[in-house]
Amino acid sequence: MTRAGVDVVVAGGGPAGCCAAVGAAHAGARVVLLERAPFLGGTATGAMVASFMGFYWRDVRVGGGVGYEITQRLIKAGGATGFTPYVLAEASENPVRVRTFPFDPEVLKLVLDDLVEEAGVDVRLHTQATRPLRSGTTVTGVVAQGLYDVEEFAAGAVVDATANAVLARKAGSATENAGEDPRARQPMTMMARLSQVDIDRFRALPREEKRRLARAGVAAGELAQQLLSVVSSPAGSDAFILMTRVAGLDGSDSRDLTRAEVEGRRQVRAAVNFLRRDVPGFENAYVSSLAPWIGVRETWRVLGDHVLSESDVRGGRQFDDAVAQGGGPLDVHHPDGAGLTLAEPAAPFSVPYRSLLPRDVDGLLVAGRCASATRAGMGAMRHMGTAMATGHAAGVAAALAAQHTTTPRGIPARDVRRVLRDQDAIVDRPPR
Ligand SMILES: Cc1cc2nc3c(=O)[nH]c(=O)nc-3n(C[C@H](O)[C@H](O)[C@H](O)COP(=O)(O)OP(=O)(O)OC[C@H]3O[C@@H](n4cnc5c(N)ncnc54)[C@H](O)[C@@H]3O)c2cc1C
Repeated sequence: MTRAGVDVVVAGGGPAGCCAAVGAAHAGARVVLLERAPFLGGTATGAMVASFMGFYWRDVRVGGGVGYEITQRLIKAGGATGFTPYVLAEASENPVRVRTFPFDPEVLKLVLDDLVEEAGVDVRLHTQATRPLRSGTTVTGVVAQGLYDVEEFAAGAVVDATANAVLARKAGSATENAGEDPRARQPMTMMARLSQVDIDRFRALPREEKRRLARAGVAAGELAQQLLSVVSSPAGSDAFILMTRVAGLDGSDSRDLTRAEVEGRRQVRAAVNFLRRDVPGFENAYVSSLAPWIGVRETWRVLGDHVLSESDVRGGRQFDDAVAQGGGPLDVHHPDGAGLTLAEPAAPFSVPYRSLLPRDVDGLLVAGRCASATRAGMGAMRHMGTAMATGHAAGVAAALAAQHTTTPRGIPARDVRRVLRDQDAIVDRPPR
C-alpha cells in the first residue's frame, strides 16, 4: 500500500469527471483523476455514444467552460464538424428537435489525453476507486486499486463522478431511488459502429418511410424498438447505431452487466441483418466496432441538499445558487414496453450547487449521472453537455474547499459561481 496527499481526487473519468479534474486544476488544485478503463471519456468513448446533447436549448448555447472547450478541440482535431440541428427519435411517434454535436469517439480519447495533461492532472487509468477514506461522516480521501497496488489518496475534497455513486454510497449517502427495484430502471443500449454506409441516402428517406421500416424491423423481431437512431461520423462514411434495448437487468451489478453485454451484442447482430437487407444506404454496411461496454442510462442517484425534479426541469427553473445550465430535452426510456418520454423544457434550466452536495456526508461532491435528481430530472440533466457542466462546477468547488481547508458545504455558492465564470462556464440563463 502506498500513500499520497493531494488537494482533490476525482473518481471516474467520464464527461463529468474529466471536466471536474480540469476545472479543479485550473483553480489551482493538485488533482488525481482515477479511471478504471484504459482511456478517458466514459460513456462518450467506452459506450460509443458519439453525440453530445445539452449544450443548447433551441438556438441558445447554455454549455460553456471545459465542456465547450472539449467541443472546440474536437473540431480542431478533425473529430467533429460542429453543432448541428437533429431530430431525436425521428422514426418514433414523438420526435423532438435538438442541437447535437456528433464526434468521433476515437478522436475524443486523444483530445482528453491532451486536455488533462496540459492542465497538470495526475491521471491514473486502469485504476478503480474502491472506497472512501472517512473520518466520521466526512470523506477524507479515496482508496484506489491498480492492477496490483492499492493506493491511498488523502484529499482536501473528493468528487464522485463514477455515474454509479460508488464512493457516495460507500460513504453512507442515501440515494434518491433507494426504494426502487434496480432491475426496473431505464434500459441499456449496446452501440455499434458500421462502416461503408451511404448515410446521405438513408437520411434522404422520408420520415414516414423510416417509421414504416422501423415498425417492420420490430415486427420481424430484429429491431428492439421503433427507432432508427443513427449518428454519422464526421467523415460521413460511418454510422453509430443506437438500436438495441436491454431491459430488466441492473446496470450496477457485474453479473447482470455480463448478461447485458452479451444480449446487447446479440441485438446488434439482429439489427445489422435487418439494416443490410431492408434499409436503403446500409446494403454494404459491416460492423467495424462494437462499443467496449454497454451504455447504462440509470443506476444510483445520490440524495442531495436539493433534488432536481421534473418540474424544475420542465419549467426552466433558475436557482440563486445555480452552477450549471441545461438545455434538455427530458429523455426517459421506459423500463417496460419500448416507449420513451421526450419533452423540451420551457426554457433553459439550472442545476443548483445543492444538487452536488450529498445529504449527511461532508468532504464529497457528486457530479454527472449520480448527482441529486429524480428519475425525470436526471432524464434532462444526464446529457453530456450538462454532465460536463456539473463536473466542472464540482471540480471548482472541490478546489476551493481544499484551498480554504473546509468542506464543499462550507464554500458559498457565489464563490463557486465566480470562479466558474472566470473559467468561461455559463452559470446564469443566457439571454435568448
Ligand atoms: C445508450 C445511451 C445513449 C445516450 N445518448 C446520449 C446522447 O445522444 N447525448 C448525450 O449528451 N448524452 C447521451 N447519453 C447520456 C450520457 O452519455 C451520460 O448520462 C453521461 O455520459 C454521464 O456522464 P458521467 O461522466 O456522469 O458518467 P459516465 O459517462 O458513465 O462516466 C463514468 C466514468 O467513471 C468510470 N468509473 C466508474 N466507476 C469507477 C470507479 N469505481 N473507479 C474509477 N472509475 C470508475 C467509468 O469507467 C466511466 O469512465 C446516453 C446514454 C446512454 C447510455
